[in-house]
Amino acid sequence: PCDISPITQQILFEKYEIGRLLGCGAFAKVYHARNIQTGESVAIKAISKQKIVKSGFMPNIKREISIMRQLHHPYIVTLFEVLATKAKIYFVMEFVKGGELFSEISKCRFSEDLSRRYFQQLISAVGYCHSHGVFHRDLKPENLLIDEKGDLKVSDFGLSAVTSQVHNDGLLYTSCGTPAYVAPEILARKGYNGAKIDIWSCGVILFVLNSGYLPFNCRNLAEMYRKIYRGEFRLPKWTSPGLRHLFSRLLDTNPVTRITVDEIIQDPWFSQGYKEIKFHD
Ligand code: ADP
Ligand code: MG
Repeated sequence: PCDISPITQQILFEKYEIGRLLGCGAFAKVYHARNIQTGESVAIKAISKQKIVKSGFMPNIKREISIMRQLHHPYIVTLFEVLATKAKIYFVMEFVKGGELFSEISKCRFSEDLSRRYFQQLISAVGYCHSHGVFHRDLKPENLLIDEKGDLKVSDFGLSAVTSQVHNDGLLYTSCGTPAYVAPEILARKGYNGAKIDIWSCGVILFVLNSGYLPFNCRNLAEMYRKIYRGEFRLPKWTSPGLRHLFSRLLDTNPVTRITVDEIIQDPWFSQGYKEIKFHD
């Protein structure tokens, strides 16, 4: 079921009417599209096969896709289907109307309550995927979308595991802003635990939500890496003691002692108003 057998472009165009460009990355373009039969809005991400094959990730992508199709969570963008032509792979996804969380943050920083609400939704999504053995590995505000109800939707869960690797192969890695969210053990290149690097990125995201700026930021990349290694960050003075404590656990440079999803859910700052979301697969 995870095989992507190639179709012609004509078959794709008979099923979906491709509309405007929503976003553009180094290796992918995302379009708004309409399912002609149902009239439903979807987002279609087109990726060049050549780039994936070149980086040797074709076997991984197939595995990830078969898992992704089984994941259904209110705070994760649903993957409807995957189509492929000779040259491209198309991910047909749920269309999320509200745009990127990133553009909301750039307007102003969030209150601690609003930061908590988004962070709870993020952790709910991340925990769900981790329990299914799927890691994002490229969590950052640009990959978090907001729907019409103002709820968070994590984009590309599982696919980023593959596509972020493609980044490594291309030119964009240093200019796309991703390094600011990268855990120290990735910089050390000693191998890493997928769950723990996602937790680190969630910590950086929460920091940005609460403060309006990045915890580890420098014009100079080497200097930024040094700060990440040391876990050197300064919280704004309005940060509550409860949240300060949680940051020290999220942005713990040692992945072994870094907080887990289960521990986050028990955290007193986090758990305020958190209703655990349960699912039946
Ligand atoms: P890349 O990995 O190249 O950055 P993304 O999957 O993050 O590609 O998509 C690029 C942009 O396209 C996103 O930042 C977002 O603005 C838009 N986009 C992606 N997926 C969706 C979606 N399901 N609904 C609406 N917009 C989307
Ligand atoms: Mg992106």
